[in-house]
Amino acid sequence: MSSCSWDCVRLVAFDVDGTLVEHDGSLVIWQLLHQRFVGDDEVNRLRYRDYLDGRLSYAEWVRLDVEGWRDGGATRASIEQVIREHLRLVPGAREVIGELHRRGYTLAIVSGTLDLVLDVLFPDHPFHHVFTNRISFDDAGAIAGWQATPFDMDGKAEALRALALQLGIAHHQIAFVGDHTNDCSALKLVGCPVAYDPKHDSVRALARTVLPRGGLRGLLDLLPARAPAAH
Ligand SMILES: [Mg+2]
Repeated sequence: MSSCSWDCVRLVAFDVDGTLVEHDGSLVIWQLLHQRFVGDDEVNRLRYRDYLDGRLSYAEWVRLDVEGWRDGGATRASIEQVIREHLRLVPGAREVIGELHRRGYTLAIVSGTLDLVLDVLFPDHPFHHVFTNRISFDDAGAIAGWQATPFDMDGKAEALRALALQLGIAHHQIAFVGDHTNDCSALKLVGCPVAYDPKHDSVRALARTVLPRGGLRGLLDLLPARAPAAH
């Protein structure tokens, strides 16, 4: 196990749904879009089960979901409306991201969310590196295509390995903040694993620090201002 020292962290990476973004009933964007454009979110449970059983690949799962929304009439505007009406940043998210930016950290998103969630809730795009699922739209706003992320579930650790290589840092210089079982590969890899409002015991068990729901600002007590780089 790598040794964790908060003052050697260079990269702080975040999950999105349940970590930076919340919903009153703990639903995520996929479930909300199923409810809005398919009628209910039962398909989410069934497809997740098929994925875990190896009957459905992640990319196929994304394709089925996005095609269902497209056939249900989803447009960029109506998806953005669902996000605005049902999702919000967790308390302190904007302040924490802004302050970590000022303190000199490289900030990343490694998430199975949709890029539109970040576009709507972080319109200033404060992250240096973003790995999410992506949807593209035509000029009329209809869904024209999508790109499934290879960096969800076990792929989250792959994204962080690649970023560490690109940035020239070691895995113990990464802090990752997540809430659910799809974050476990990332939490296992990094030197400073943080659970925010963990939804499963396995997430809690992997974390060096557990932040309660509403307590994201606790990150600022852990991560000091970094010394300015030499010019
Ligand atoms: Mg999550």
